[in-house]
Amino acid sequence: MTMLSATLLATSALPSYAKINVAERLPELEKIYLDLHQSPELSFNEKETSQKIAKHLTKLGFEVTDNVGGYGVVGLLKNGQGPTVMIRTDTDGLPIIEQTGVPYASQVRVTNKEGIQVGVMHGCGHDIHMTSFLGTAEHLVANKDKWQGTLMMVAQPAEEVGAGAKAMLKEGLFSNFAKPDHIIALHVSASVPAGKVALKPEYTMASVDSVDIIVKGKGGHGAYPHTTIDPVVIASRVVLALQTITSRELSPLEPSVVTVGSIHGGSKHNVISNEVKLQLTLRSYNPAVREQQIAAIKRITAGIAASAGLEESLFPEVIVHEGESIPSTYNNPQQTARVTEAIKSAIGGDNVELTAPVMAGEDFGLFGRTEEKLPITLFWLGGVNPQNYAEAMKNNTQLPSLHSSKFAPDYQKAIPTGVSAMSNAALALFRK
Ligand SMILES: [Zn+2]
Ligand SMILES: [Zn+2]
Repeated sequence: MTMLSATLLATSALPSYAKINVAERLPELEKIYLDLHQSPELSFNEKETSQKIAKHLTKLGFEVTDNVGGYGVVGLLKNGQGPTVMIRTDTDGLPIIEQTGVPYASQVRVTNKEGIQVGVMHGCGHDIHMTSFLGTAEHLVANKDKWQGTLMMVAQPAEEVGAGAKAMLKEGLFSNFAKPDHIIALHVSASVPAGKVALKPEYTMASVDSVDIIVKGKGGHGAYPHTTIDPVVIASRVVLALQTITSRELSPLEPSVVTVGSIHGGSKHNVISNEVKLQLTLRSYNPAVREQQIAAIKRITAGIAASAGLEESLFPEVIVHEGESIPSTYNNPQQTARVTEAIKSAIGGDNVELTAPVMAGEDFGLFGRTEEKLPITLFWLGGVNPQNYAEAMKNNTQLPSLHSSKFAPDYQKAIPTGVSAMSNAALALFRK
């Protein structure tokens, strides 16, 4: 047994809770899910969605504040002396035309801020998160005799652009509302069968940085390259040289991704341009690796520009979009062990898996990175129809990923599992 699974499997002295019966609430939860699924809203536009959540929480007796950091909602329910447990859902959809073929597919089209008409879809399953969140709130209210403390329900907007958690924290989430002792969230998984949960202690999701590189040159006629310094050639060298950051500068034991996702330059066959623009995404777990990636990008781009004969004033500009950057998600090991035991008691030990970390990012990680250093746990809620999962495994085919226009989670199985898992995790954390 590795250290990792030893931590995860360590049994604490937790009571085992009775299996939560959400079956009878399923028709109501299904109605909520289908409504949310068919009315997705883009990041920063979650107005209707936030009102629906605020209405539900108010009806359940929470003290509700809306418009926190954009369309964020905070619901507080005080139930005697005890810890404060925060449960977070995200609320935004994605600019994707849904192609799942399900009868309840989203038909929503909006004009984005660039003036282009786009489809909107809950392609990351945030509708599953919200429904599980409301089901959990309802369950915990109905079972108030089983816990003591303050329940803090947080519906966070703009996750897909890495801005919502930051905005809610900036508006004093922990100072104006409550400082949680425990913070938990779930994310639906496109690679775990519905009915199961997968999680891991420590690093579980990566940090995300968006970086622009403006490569400069001296343009001119395509037939007289010797009179120019060609930024297309410099940019090409840069793209190749950047591959050595992960492969040659960083330890092979440290996760790192440096991806050039976009390259644009020039306007015509026979014109050498003055500029090429690159757009990169950087991923890592360790903040020191992130620093090293950025330092290496600056050094490599400047070095290549110098070797091409450019003066320093024309060295590439490296712009790190600090406002969009999110840290890695670090699951507090002790809290995650308690959450794991509670979920096992709710849905059965066989349905809880130790998972590998991924290089995708989540701004949920930010809630654990404030100066209070609060413990957070994010777990994966299986979303794939079990039969589809079994077939994909048998035929070695790829399942639609999160953010795919074809991602159709098995909500009828995933939502009750989400409610059971999340409710039991919260009940366990209310126990001192
Ligand atoms: Zn997403
Ligand atoms: Zn997501």
